[in-house]
Amino acid sequence: MTPLLEVNDLSMHFPVKEGLLMRSHRANRAVDGVSLHINPGETLGLVGESGCGKSTLGRCLVRLYEPSAGSIRFAGQDITHLKPRTLRPLRQNIQMIFQDPMESLNARHTVGEILEEPMIIQGLGGSSVERKQRVRELLNIVGLPARSVSRYPFEFSGGQRQRIGIARAIALNPQLIICDEPVSALDVSIQSQILNLLVDLQREFNLAYLFIAHDLAVVKHVSDRVAIMYLGRIVETADSETLYRNASHPYTKSLISAIPIPDPHRVQQRQVLTGDVPSPIAPPTGCHFHPRCPVAEPACSESYPATRTIGEGHDSACHLHTDPSGITTAG
Ligand code: SF4
Ligand code: MG
Repeated sequence: MTPLLEVNDLSMHFPVKEGLLMRSHRANRAVDGVSLHINPGETLGLVGESGCGKSTLGRCLVRLYEPSAGSIRFAGQDITHLKPRTLRPLRQNIQMIFQDPMESLNARHTVGEILEEPMIIQGLGGSSVERKQRVRELLNIVGLPARSVSRYPFEFSGGQRQRIGIARAIALNPQLIICDEPVSALDVSIQSQILNLLVDLQREFNLAYLFIAHDLAVVKHVSDRVAIMYLGRIVETADSETLYRNASHPYTKSLISAIPIPDPHRVQQRQVLTGDVPSPIAPPTGCHFHPRCPVAEPACSESYPATRTIGEGHDSACHLHTDPSGITTAG
């Protein structure tokens, strides 16, 4: 199957401003050599703690940022360096949903205006009457009453606002939606309603999702495959089942341990992740995870481990995979 989205060795380095000078030799390496793909109609979960570069990666994919290096192909087309004018058709096909819809919805526009806007910008949606008909249809699809059309975002609850954000994202029938922590700010009971809505929409419209989250529990039920990100890099990728049952990378294992399990025997095996994610401006030498890794060896601080395929569709970047007996080379 030809992937819908193919990302190769993608980096997004921001120059670090110090005083009045932009010192180019120091950079915030927010995304640092990421490769991944998403197939049509598939959900790839992207999980890591806050500050691991997930949102920056998402923003590169919708080309809100122009990447520093690497490539992004969408439906076979290289979109890495498209200029704003040529990005327009792409905006129709790749959309984004944000964590806080309040930030992404124009507070001074009615819901009707918000939903009509992408159609006007793209010159799609036909006449004014046809666009308004489409707005009513979108409200119905996301489960909001027709009268919402003349109301303002602040008049809605958090969950309802996320429904408005979703309606806007699907207005132009995209093929891929980058969902950046779409339920993180919502109550648990509302979270499952929004997740169910996203799953229903995926089935109905054959949508592909990149589903960004900071904890594995949320992505568990919605993802076909999961990529784990730590300090700008993907450290493990596998299909969801394999990842949860047979995680290999020590960082993934720590994230899985953090999922509450109502089983007293499992609780004792929990491996608690201590410390914070280090700064991407001065990442630790070698494997970036080594200062927090419970099974780190001396060689781990010397070189970054290569990504190795350790099973079907299962990749991991850890020196412990270098050789079954443990660390043998500084790969
Ligand atoms: Fe831990 Fe070393 Fe593997 Fe990094 S390479 S995850 S420090 S064992
Ligand atoms: Mg984020």
